[in-house]
Amino acid sequence: MLHIVACIKQVPDTKIIKMNPKTNTMDRRTAPAILNPYDAHAVEEAVRLRDKYGGTVSVVTMGPPPAVKAIKKCIEIGADEGYLITDRRFAGADTLATSYAVTKAIEKISKIKPVDLIICGKMTIDGDTGQVGPGIARRLDIPPLTSVNKVVEVNREEGKAIVHRKLEDGYEVVQSSLPCLLSVEKTINEVPYSPFPNMLKAARYQPHIWSVDDLEDVDIKQLGLKGSPTIVSKVWAPPKPEGGEILEGSSQDQVEKLLAVLLEKKELFQAKEGV
Ligand SMILES: Cc1cc2nc3c(=O)[nH]c(=O)nc-3n(C[C@H](O)[C@H](O)[C@H](O)COP(=O)(O)OP(=O)(O)OC[C@H]3O[C@@H](n4cnc5c(N)ncnc54)[C@H](O)[C@@H]3O)c2cc1C
Repeated sequence: MLHIVACIKQVPDTKIIKMNPKTNTMDRRTAPAILNPYDAHAVEEAVRLRDKYGGTVSVVTMGPPPAVKAIKKCIEIGADEGYLITDRRFAGADTLATSYAVTKAIEKISKIKPVDLIICGKMTIDGDTGQVGPGIARRLDIPPLTSVNKVVEVNREEGKAIVHRKLEDGYEVVQSSLPCLLSVEKTINEVPYSPFPNMLKAARYQPHIWSVDDLEDVDIKQLGLKGSPTIVSKVWAPPKPEGGEILEGSSQDQVEKLLAVLLEKKELFQAKEGV
């Protein structure tokens, strides 16, 4: 029976959010908080694997108390248990400190039931770094398999997982030992509408809520702002793109004109030098 942990994050809906023109930062009050879309696919994949092989799906997030809503969304998708780690001492965490805190939570969850597989989203739509998943894998000393767009097999008895990893021009088939960590593409599955019984379960569900003191062997210096070496030195909005030039004529004319423009800008020469 597999125990799969999906790592999830509540994020502002960046399709709606407005930027503060003075500070160039996101005005989080202008957008509703949602489950990071990539993480919905991570949970869906965990649920599908549980349904295929049997077992349990737990979801874990580090976030403020309202992140309970994102956990409930995962219960709607089909997760069995949810864990929220929340504490002021986590605040201001960069990806290094986030991966540390989430790892500590996973270590505690695996004491309740050993973990076979961890699934993360490829990235979040607000932080966008894609660093937290590999960070957790590094800390747990397990293989990270990134850009996964298909899980072929998870075999607990043989201690192996086989997945497809998306490449620019196709995919590669990778076999890993268990436990391992997958970070998944949106193309891995489609998240269907939640069945009504799951919605009822989610409405009543109360996740496990842990503070720093509930975790074990935590080095406080590695948490939150104190444990975050990343410094955001400047934030600015990218310049608006200027209107482009539309090349007229036959396909051949257009190609010749385009080559002339590129050669003029020496972009081709620079690209060749870079090869
Ligand atoms: C100096 C600094 C200070 C910051 N302060 C704050 C702050 O005060 N408040 C704040 O909200 N953000 C803050 N951030 C942003 C914060 O670092 C990131 O949002 C966070 O580390 C996750 O990184 P990401 O969003 O790029 O996730 P990614 O690495 O893109 O996420 C990949 C996957 O990792 C998993 N994951 C990501 N985050 C979590 C999580 N929290 N819990 C469980 N799983 C997760 C999910 O599966 C996700 O799909 C700060 C960043 C910096 C650089």
